[in-house]
Amino acid sequence: MVCPHCGKELEELAVVRLLRSRVNFTSTLPRRGQVITCIECRKVLTAELAGFA
Ligand SMILES: [Zn+2]
Repeated sequence: MVCPHCGKELEELAVVRLLRSRVNFTSTLPRRGQVITCIECRKVLTAELAGFA
């Protein structure tokens, strides 16, 4: 896939496991589960991926 933020074609993704107790820094991310981020620009790609509803 291609990162929508920086346009880099990603061969791998960084998956950040979230713990609810540690997720106070933003309200736009799911409160638990995993967030997938671009390894290049470190921005979150979760919005482009389904499954967090
Ligand atoms: Zn990126």
